[in-house]
Amino acid sequence: MRKSISKYLNIRDDQITVTNGADEGLDIVSKIFIDKYTDTIISTPTYSYYNIITKIMGGNTISISRKEKFIDDIENILKTIKKKNNIVFLCSPNNPTGNCIKQKSVIRLLTETDSIIVVDEAYVEFSGNSLINLTNKYDNLIILRTFSKAFSLAGARVGYIVASKKMIDLLNKVRPPNSLSVISLALADIALNNLENVNDNIKFIVNEREKCKNFINNISGVNVFPSEANFLLIKFNNIKSDIIYNLLLKQGLIVRNFNNIKGLENCLRFGIRNSQENNILLNAISEILNKN
Ligand code: PMP
Repeated sequence: MRKSISKYLNIRDDQITVTNGADEGLDIVSKIFIDKYTDTIISTPTYSYYNIITKIMGGNTISISRKEKFIDDIENILKTIKKKNNIVFLCSPNNPTGNCIKQKSVIRLLTETDSIIVVDEAYVEFSGNSLINLTNKYDNLIILRTFSKAFSLAGARVGYIVASKKMIDLLNKVRPPNSLSVISLALADIALNNLENVNDNIKFIVNEREKCKNFINNISGVNVFPSEANFLLIKFNNIKSDIIYNLLLKQGLIVRNFNNIKGLENCLRFGIRNSQENNILLNAISEILNKN
């Protein structure tokens, strides 16, 4: 598997370790780097598991709110990193806001601090903005990847970590030896041997995403945020997202409601699917807004 991924990424196979989904990658990283003396710095709102694993390992989470357009507040993160025992979790493209972090911002964190910098690239294939090239240069950078999103293999549970050889050797010390089934590895291998299909699928999703974004831009009462992932985040202006969420649910349309998350009030997120399914959802949202 490492050899196949190495060929796919054009990176040495000793810079890769394979995990049971990106979530196990996060578990492994937290086992090595988080204990009760650790401050975990999280750029919020973001994927909830970074906070959960910090708590499981007894560490302390420091949330740094994103700036306008959900841009990571690098100045504030740098100011917050005062002592050595820090780990920073970044997500690019970020779940659920869809925006990417700038390479130069990550380089600042890597060069101006001693912290471990984790960049979760679960959705990166939809953006093409990877930071993997930096793992040759910086030992404190850890990149998480997965077959769950662009490769459509969420149920197979295959992810991987890319970092320097030194970092991979360290992470391998705590990696469970038998957490991946041969069946899952075979599925991931099939996907890597059919990159043309995978890439066609990515192109299709990106195209649909932009079509959905344009459609929503023409509905009044709702804003859509630019996204480089396979989902869109939308914000309602004059109606509670809880109401929309429940009305959609009644029609069998399941989206994610973020109304109770700081910075995402009145926001819903939905995954991009095929044209017909996307139209059903968008028309339902449009109708609800017309009636309420
Ligand atoms: N990171 C992010 C940002 C995610 O959204 C997810 C999926 N919810 C994961 C990691 C976990 O993915 P996996 O299925 O590979 O464990």
